[in-house]
Amino acid sequence: MIILKNKRELDAMAESGRIVEEALLYVASLVRPGISTWELDRLAEEFITKQGAVPSFKGYGGFPGSICTSVNDVVIHGIPARDTILQEGDILSVDLGALKNHYHGDAARTIPVGSVTQEALRLIRTTEEAFFCGLDHCRIGHHLSDISHAIETHVRQAGCSIVEEYVGHGIGRNLHEMPNVPNFGAPGRGPRLQEGMVIAIEPMVNLGRRDIVVLKDRWTVKTRDGSLSAHYENTVAITEDGPRMLTCTQRR
Ligand code: MG
Repeated sequence: MIILKNKRELDAMAESGRIVEEALLYVASLVRPGISTWELDRLAEEFITKQGAVPSFKGYGGFPGSICTSVNDVVIHGIPARDTILQEGDILSVDLGALKNHYHGDAARTIPVGSVTQEALRLIRTTEEAFFCGLDHCRIGHHLSDISHAIETHVRQAGCSIVEEYVGHGIGRNLHEMPNVPNFGAPGRGPRLQEGMVIAIEPMVNLGRRDIVVLKDRWTVKTRDGSLSAHYENTVAITEDGPRMLTCTQRR
């Protein structure tokens, strides 16, 4: 069942979204060669808590961190660790959620560590652009899979590949609600978008092949071929006036 949100609920979600957006900007400002992902996790948790919110991911399904920190060929769900020290040329995907006033916000960014290769920058840019291609379809009356198709089309045109095993999702009082939002597929399928739907759209894009492996820790998802992977996500509400981005208000 898709749970629609009214104006009051959307305003509550905007507050959670604001905290997520600011926490991501804060984490991005800390990223540099020599810092550990454990330190980023600790500081992110402190930031979120100071805002009167709770990190959505901590303990979710047993996840040990407050944020996911996925370096280079790690696609998603990287576990922050003291011995994972960022190095010049790495790319770091940070996925971060915050719960406040009973509502969650969820977003992710891929951040270059120092100076990175042109290929890495192209991957990061392609992933972000793919999100915005999907966002263009976040309009009342469009089909859910119009978003999916737009994302896939952009990624394929760039010669990159889409991870299919993990998808975006509805969000609200629960971190993951219906509907699933795949990053691939034919247009014109699935439910039509309605006012008050709130979804997290999150393309995961590999520079090489789309195949992934899950490590023995049962969390860390890596590319099978060891190629770089990027992640970009925002929480978006469908409104009469078009898409309302709840975790990305400071640009575009
Ligand atoms: Mg998500």
